[in-house]
Amino acid sequence: MVNGYAAESLQQALDILVNTDAVPYAGGTDLMVENRPDVKYLFLKKIPELRAITVDEQYVHIGAAVTFTEAIANPDVPKLMKEAITLIGSPAIRNAGTFGGNIGNGSDKADSVLIEFAADAKICLVSQAGERLVDVAHFYLGRKKLDLHPGELIKEILLPRYGLEQYTYQKVGGRKALAITFVSFAGVFQYFKCAMAGLRILRPHLGQPGTPSRDIRILKRCFL
Ligand SMILES: Cc1cc2nc3c(=O)[nH]c(=O)nc-3n(C[C@H](O)[C@H](O)[C@H](O)COP(=O)(O)OP(=O)(O)OC[C@H]3O[C@@H](n4cnc5c(N)ncnc54)[C@H](O)[C@@H]3O)c2cc1C
Repeated sequence: MVNGYAAESLQQALDILVNTDAVPYAGGTDLMVENRPDVKYLFLKKIPELRAITVDEQYVHIGAAVTFTEAIANPDVPKLMKEAITLIGSPAIRNAGTFGGNIGNGSDKADSVLIEFAADAKICLVSQAGERLVDVAHFYLGRKKLDLHPGELIKEILLPRYGLEQYTYQKVGGRKALAITFVSFAGVFQYFKCAMAGLRILRPHLGQPGTPSRDIRILKRCFL
């Protein structure tokens, strides 16, 4: 039996987090596999502040407890992210699995995190002291190493609204469905007139556990 606390607001969740040893639990698709005995969980799925997808001028804000299925159906989520998360697990995993859980698990094979790196996304963290915004590359420090302070929750992922339209993405797994990534690649290109102005490439999972390797090149006046 799974024990824990079902928070109904962000404030309530943060109170529980500082006053107990509860482990944040979103979709449970990673945690259920770990099957830790005697752990109490803090259930996040009913917290409205973590469940929304909103936009401002610069960013699409994806709540940490938004599932992959919900994001695929949302018109504001960039196509590049949709392409990657459509390949995650199976329909059942996509119905339960969340963005916060994907990065919160600290796996170097997390498919949405690759896109967050390629997009220069930001992660919004929240605690009783308030919110802090960090670049994904500063938050995700390596396999199972996150810059997540005690008492903090991942609140949302901020993906740039513009500049991700031209990209290439490839995931290579061991089979067509339910495939954990062996190697994947995301490249984002920006063109101005007939010049390629910027190219960001990310090639994680080359057999080395740890932080996705990142190769950024800004190509000025590289005519096609
Ligand atoms: C059969 C199967 C296939 C899978 N296939 C893929 C795949 O193809 N690609 C892929 O990337 N992943 C895959 N996964 C892994 C998993 O589904 C994803 O990592 C998913 O995004 C986890 O989300 P969740 O909500 O279920 O996380 P949970 O299991 O609820 O949590 C995972 C971790 O994140 C922490 N956490 C969750 N939310 C927060 C928060 N808001 N703040 C702080 N910490 C938080 C939890 O404490 C825990 O440590 C697969 C898993 C299974 C079982």
